[in-house]
This record gives sequence, C-alpha cells and structure tokens, in this order.
Amino acid sequence: MANEKLIAEGGINPSAPKDAKPLIIAGPCSAESPQQLVEVAQELKKNGFVNYMRAGVWKPRTTPNSFEGYGTEALIWLNQVKQESGMPFATEVATEKHVYECLKFGADLLWIGARTVSNPFAIQEIASALRGVQIPVLVKNPLSPDLKLWEGAINRLRLAGVKEVGAIHRGFTVWHASPFRNFPMWEIALQLKANNPELTVISDPSHISGNSKYIELLSTRAINLGFDGLMVEVHPNPKLALSDAMQQITPNQFNSIIRNLFEAKQANAELMNELRAEIDALDELLVWALSNRMAIATEIARVKCETGQKIIQPDRWNEVLSKVIGKGHKMGLRTEFVKRLFNSIHRESLQTQEAMTQNRSEMVKFG
Ligand code: PEP
Ligand code: MN
Repeated sequence: MANEKLIAEGGINPSAPKDAKPLIIAGPCSAESPQQLVEVAQELKKNGFVNYMRAGVWKPRTTPNSFEGYGTEALIWLNQVKQESGMPFATEVATEKHVYECLKFGADLLWIGARTVSNPFAIQEIASALRGVQIPVLVKNPLSPDLKLWEGAINRLRLAGVKEVGAIHRGFTVWHASPFRNFPMWEIALQLKANNPELTVISDPSHISGNSKYIELLSTRAINLGFDGLMVEVHPNPKLALSDAMQQITPNQFNSIIRNLFEAKQANAELMNELRAEIDALDELLVWALSNRMAIATEIARVKCETGQKIIQPDRWNEVLSKVIGKGHKMGLRTEFVKRLFNSIHRESLQTQEAMTQNRSEMVKFG
C-alpha cells in the first residue's frame, strides 16, 4: 500500500533512507520558542526515522483567546533550527499569506488543517498560491466524514499543478461520548487510498486520540492497516505545552513507539535485500554453469560424430545421474528434484547434440 514511487523518488520524503517505507512527521503541536524547537529537532534527528519536524505557527483554535501561535516569528525560528540541525520542517497553512510566508522562510512541506479543508474557498486560495511551486502538501481530512470534500481539496491542489499531494487521516468530529477526541472511521481513509492508490496517506494518532496514552495503540493500528506513515505530536515537556497538552508525547515515548513499530521491520528489510543479492549472484552462477555445460555437450557431440558413437548413451547418463543424486542428497536436496532437474538438462543437451549431428550428416550428404 505504501506509495513507494513518490517515497523512493525522495519527493514527499526527502530525508528518508532509500529503502525506508514510512513517511514520519513528528514535533510539537505549536512552535513555542527557539529552545523548544532546537531540543525537539535534536531528539528527532537521533530517532532516525523522522522525515520532517512538524510545528504549527498559525493555530486554528476552536475556542477564542487560546494560544494562536507565534506566526512569522516562529517560521524564522524553524528556518534557523533547520539550518543548524539539518531537519526539514513542516507547518500548517490556512491562507495564501501563510503559503507565501512559508515559502519565504524555507518550509519543506505544508499541511492543510481539518478546519480549512472543510472550506473549498480557502482551499482554492491556497491552491492558487501554490501554482508553479513544487512543495509537498498534505491535506488533512475535513472535520466531517465527507470523502468527497477531502478528495475535492486534494484535486484542487492537483489541478493547480502541485505534484506531491498526500493526505493525513486525523479522525472526524465526535457527536457522542468517546475515548477519542475524534472518531477514526478508518474506512474513510482506506476508501480514499483505494480511490487513489498512488496517494501517500498517513495517520495522525495525536489528533485522533487527543490523549497521549492512545498514541501507540493508534499508531500500530494505522501501520497494520497499511497507512504510509504517521504524524505524531512530540513535545519536550507535554504538560507545559501551549496547545494540545493532553495528546503530546515526550521524545523518549516517541522513540520507543517508533522502535517497536519499525526497527524489526527495517532490520528484516535489510536482511531481505542481502539475501536477494545472494540469490541473484547464485542465479547468475547457475546460468553461467548451464551455458558452459551446454557448450561442452556440443563439443562432445562433435567427438561422438567423428568417432561414430551413438548420441544417447544410457549407461553414461545413469552414472552421471546417480553421482549428482548422491551429491545432492548429502547437501540436502531431494532425490526427486535433482532427478527432474538433471533429466531436463540432459534432454536439452541431447536435443542440441541431435540437431548438430543432423546438420553434419546433411553437410556430408550435400557437401
Ligand atoms: C494540527 O495538526 O496541529 C492541527 C491543528 O490539526 P487538525 O487540523 O487535525 O485539527
Ligand atoms: Mn495539535
């Protein structure tokens, strides 16, 4: 399910190692200070799986008088931290002005928040501001479980020429008591993926759960369902966060979740690559040996012809066969398999030998 093409090309996932599959974005809900960003960037860099550090600079708050982000000032911090740490950064845009500011201050990926995606005018404004610019853009699902609205936003960006468009599943507004802040309704994200198999679709367990204790559970569920990656809120000191304090996890907690999810998989993927390289080398050797064997068989045919011997010599073949069966048995190969394989090789070389003797007798006849 992973959008391997986009990811392997390093488009939406530039700092990922070549064989890495998941797109991982992590960082605080909001950029709060240069120190906070430096600290998180260093931790995320050490983690090794993170492609982008996230940090909101304009916060679309539901309740007035909540912290609304430091805006352009925070972009300057993010840019500085990126220069120093080498960690690409991602932030949220909701207006055309946000887009211009982000481009000016070197943002590496933009995402559009759930509240904004619900408004096609806002999406069109953002899409038009992005015309002619190549930067990856991830579209969160709208607040309501409306697949058409989500796809519509994605298509507005595509129509504006944005090549690297992806999606973030962050759940849908809950209208009843629920352990989660937002209702996952996984099937909507999976349907989006089914409709757009090339689209990178990642999951945001932080905004789905609204609670740090469910991040591991939801991350695991998302990866098992085949999502292409995760966006997770990570804060050096979640209790002191200026927004979404309940759902942010520490860098240590994040490291442990990512290790549990991906380290074994990555080790297996590396082992698989090594094993496949060995198989390829052995296959080459097999083809080389077969071709040499065939060349020698042709030479034998010439000698048989010149000395008037029969092409088929059952005693000799039985001797060859029992030798290889015995050797194969010692090396763990089934008798039946060795017999079938060598009989097939023998048939091929007899055919070549027969064709050759026929050619020679015709040459003698007409020569
Ligand atoms: C966020 O990612 O910080 C955010 C505001 O998310 P959402 O749009 O999913 O609510
Ligand atoms: Mn948040």
